[in-house]
Amino acid sequence: MEKPVEVIVIGGGISGLCAAKLLALEHGVNVTVLEARNRVGGRTNTLEDPKFKYADLGGAYVGPTQNRILRVAKELGVQTYKVYNEGSIVEFLDGKRRVFSGDMSTWNPVAILDYYNMIRTLDKMGAEIPLDEPWKAPKASQWDSMTVKEFLDKRCWTNYAKKRMVQVYNDAMAAEPEDMSLLYYLWYLKSGDGVLRVAAIEDAGQERKFNGGSQQISNRLKDKLGDRVNNVSM
Ligand SMILES: Cc1cc2nc3c(=O)[nH]c(=O)nc-3n(C[C@H](O)[C@H](O)[C@H](O)COP(=O)(O)OP(=O)(O)OC[C@H]3O[C@@H](n4cnc5c(N)ncnc54)[C@H](O)[C@@H]3O)c2cc1C
Repeated sequence: MEKPVEVIVIGGGISGLCAAKLLALEHGVNVTVLEARNRVGGRTNTLEDPKFKYADLGGAYVGPTQNRILRVAKELGVQTYKVYNEGSIVEFLDGKRRVFSGDMSTWNPVAILDYYNMIRTLDKMGAEIPLDEPWKAPKASQWDSMTVKEFLDKRCWTNYAKKRMVQVYNDAMAAEPEDMSLLYYLWYLKSGDGVLRVAAIEDAGQERKFNGGSQQISNRLKDKLGDRVNNVSM
């Protein structure tokens, strides 16, 4: 008699496949993964083409602070490389292209003050959120009923800081600030060790990419899990 399925994992993204690996291969639980798409990887999606070899269309960048995914990659034999990080910064903000070096693309002291004040404010608010139980933060329901856009509109003094904060948000979240709860964004920033470390390259969240693309992590997990992974797309 075959052992009955004990756990059904819905979704074959990195989280679902890691959970299935832990349960099935490390604890002997009989697991089945149901994935709605005809591929695994979810929001990691590596496009392969002989013309450019490969390109990551979804999640791609990793670095220190993302230690769990780095550990899984190492375990699966997927290597990383440091991204190119030389020369000037090119910024496209408010319809203008600026090339600069250093941290700021403006000399306006009020805008600079405003920008760093916002970073400090977000990090200070994040300090009130328990990472494992964000809903238990003292102001959880207030922050969860407000969008990131509403918060930035209310708290930024200068147009420059607001646009720059939206840019930092867009880069990290691949979404629009009107579409996300402030609580979720604060929790996310705290998980990455604060705004500056989430957004930076060296020793931070954008330091590395995977040789061959990020979807390999899921493809290799799927290979390990074999027929426990079922694509249920019609
Ligand atoms: C454009 C973009 C860029 C990003 N850049 C980065 C980055 O540079 N660095 C970084 O660390 N992160 C980045 N991310 C985020 C990262 O990709 C995700 O956090 C991560 O891939 C989420 O993995 P997951 O397994 O939790 O969820 P998902 O990848 O979303 O997996 C969920 C899976 O469940 C399946 N599913 C959903 N509902 C059902 C259902 N009812 N039945 C069956 N299957 C279902 C979905 O098809 C999907 O395969 C980026 C995301 C995007 C979209």
